[in-house]
Amino acid sequence: MTTPDISIVRTVAGLRDTTDQWRARGLASALVPTMGALHDGHLSLVDLARAHAGRVIVSIFVNPTQFGPAEDLDTYPRDEAGDAAKLSKRGVDVIFAPDNAAMYPTGFATEVIVSSLTDCLCGAARPGHFTGVATIVAKLLNQARTDIAIFGEKDYQQLLVVKRLARDLDIGTEILAAPIVREPDGMALSSRNFYLTSAQRRRARQFNVALKNVAREVAAGDDIGASLARARNLLAAAGIAKIDYLEVRSAVDLSARTGSLGADDPVRVFGAVYVGKTRLIDNEPVG
Ligand code: AMP
Repeated sequence: MTTPDISIVRTVAGLRDTTDQWRARGLASALVPTMGALHDGHLSLVDLARAHAGRVIVSIFVNPTQFGPAEDLDTYPRDEAGDAAKLSKRGVDVIFAPDNAAMYPTGFATEVIVSSLTDCLCGAARPGHFTGVATIVAKLLNQARTDIAIFGEKDYQQLLVVKRLARDLDIGTEILAAPIVREPDGMALSSRNFYLTSAQRRRARQFNVALKNVAREVAAGDDIGASLARARNLLAAAGIAKIDYLEVRSAVDLSARTGSLGADDPVRVFGAVYVGKTRLIDNEPVG
């Protein structure tokens, strides 16, 4: 199927065909995996892809295996026509939008488990999530076989997991990271922000304020535990009572950090909170 000037491919064979032709013509290609409901954060990944490659594919697939049984798979926002219009304006060549049967045909029995990096943060809070992510990303990278693939630092743990699986499974695609795109008040753009009422949205801005406070204080030598405790108080005062995690960890291997920071130690502040029923994640570099 095709909208005015962007083609939508729904089968793995169709995707392979497209990228095989590009490769035969010597054209560099990039893949941007998404779950749709596209916002300016996603579109910044598209722009980065276009800066590196002559041909760009955006995949749109709400992957059921990365959602837990009590999570928002059924209500996750979906807007393929709106997404196609945005991607067409941005110069994307192909949308890959398979259905569940194309990605998980009957008898599907394989999982990709990345055993380090996944036992903390969202891996601890969402059991099985990263196995779902790693499996679908490994499939997408193998299906598209593009030169590069772009992932956002918004999902920083996911980015590290994807880099690790691409390396461990000898997938030839180079994984590039894109910085987090934020609203003017600091809130990271997310498809899940669509769930927030305007009152919740106002409260939610304190989430990034809290992370930035910790990043600044820890960079200045403050004790990590004390700084995180102040951030928790700030969130509680803003009515953000449920915190999944708020931690300072290595930006390289996610190992935990306590006390005060050593010199030349790249770390990030990671957080996941609930505003109402909506789970938000964000992270900030320290220093
Ligand atoms: P999703 O559709 O939420 O699975 O996200 C698809 C890709 O977009 C992932 O690599 C995300 O990290 C990235 N992404 C989502 N939100 C943002 C943002 N605000 N800034 C940069 N990248 C983002």
